[in-house]
Amino acid sequence: MSACIQCGSEVENAAITGVVCLKCSNTMTGIDKPEPKIDPLVLSALVVGGVAFAIKFEINGRNYIALSLGPIMVILGIVALARIKSAPQDLRNMRLGTTIGAILLGVYHVIRGLG
Ligand SMILES: [Zn+2]
Repeated sequence: MSACIQCGSEVENAAITGVVCLKCSNTMTGIDKPEPKIDPLVLSALVVGGVAFAIKFEINGRNYIALSLGPIMVILGIVALARIKSAPQDLRNMRLGTTIGAILLGVYHVIRGLG
């Protein structure tokens, strides 16, 4: 094992020192864009959550906007949660926090929607 000279992360199967990991070499050559700190799915879920706060459609005390958008947030969050392991190590905590936040907000909307 040896450390990447660019980001310091461990590079597996490196026979020589002074190597660059795959992620950094992709970034340098412009093949790969840097990973966003928040999963794009979670960002979409948070946008949906914002919409659910902004719009209201109530029948008999039930807010059907919140009731339909809440589960969408939960589903987006669960999909994002399932793929956190493929995120770069240094982003996982950030991803986990924001993803759980989005899921909880979705659950909150469902509870709120029920009135
Ligand atoms: Zn690197």
